[in-house]
Amino acid sequence: LVAIRGVHKFFGSFEALRGVDLDIASGEKVALLGASGSGKSTLCRCINRLETIASGSIRIEGTELPQEGKALARLRADVGMVFQSFNLFPNYTALQNIMLAPVHVRHQAKADAKQEALQLLDRVGLADKAESYPGELSGGQQQRVAIARSLAMHPKVMLFDEPTSALDPEMINEVLDVMAELAQAGMTMLVVTHEMGFARHVCDRVCFMDAGQILEQNTPDEFFAHPRTDRAKDFLSKIL
Ligand code: ATP
Ligand code: MG
Repeated sequence: LVAIRGVHKFFGSFEALRGVDLDIASGEKVALLGASGSGKSTLCRCINRLETIASGSIRIEGTELPQEGKALARLRADVGMVFQSFNLFPNYTALQNIMLAPVHVRHQAKADAKQEALQLLDRVGLADKAESYPGELSGGQQQRVAIARSLAMHPKVMLFDEPTSALDPEMINEVLDVMAELAQAGMTMLVVTHEMGFARHVCDRVCFMDAGQILEQNTPDEFFAHPRTDRAKDFLSKIL
């Protein structure tokens, strides 16, 4: 579904991605792990073209993401992204936040978009919060609205960049539970996370990034039990 080949990315003279190859099959859940600064967020941002790449290719279902224009907006809708900060529009209700893109980008009829948004709110456990503004919601609730908002665009793959890192501990699980349900429902997912339990129990594969490259890929069981590289061993010794 996602095919990433030889991707290089520079910030000035600094090479943040140094030849990344990664395939994600339909329905697969991949955990992207690695130390701070290894390039995890940059890779996610390149996948939906929030960043341009210097060379290499990123294809979604065989189609190269265009660099700009309407085709980009359409293809970007295939790639949902949830960030550490929730990025909801503060002056719109939860319901309106979810309806916005389907109505304005996908030109879905308002009544249909509303019905679907209500279903999505129910799915993330927030059926009673449709009329609440982001400022009236907890961090965990806001993040679940953000997930519902991404799902409203019917993405083919969902990218999660540390979706629980900004949350108080007691709210982490409510978001992870929604993500685990999404995984169970068959969504294709790339998840940057410090939640090793999620990587181990929900994901099919772990990719370990170091200095702009994917250094190691393995099943979670193998990766956590027998990391192959010193960098991965070092990383795991610090977090486990
Ligand atoms: P973290 O775990 O802290 O989120 P990360 O793996 O997501 O780290 P990135 O945010 O992808 O790391 O950053 C990779 C490298 O690229 C870092 O060295 C960072 O300083 C650099 N970088 C990222 N964004 C920019 C930018 N806009 N301009 C310059 N350098 C950048
Ligand atoms: Mg990051």
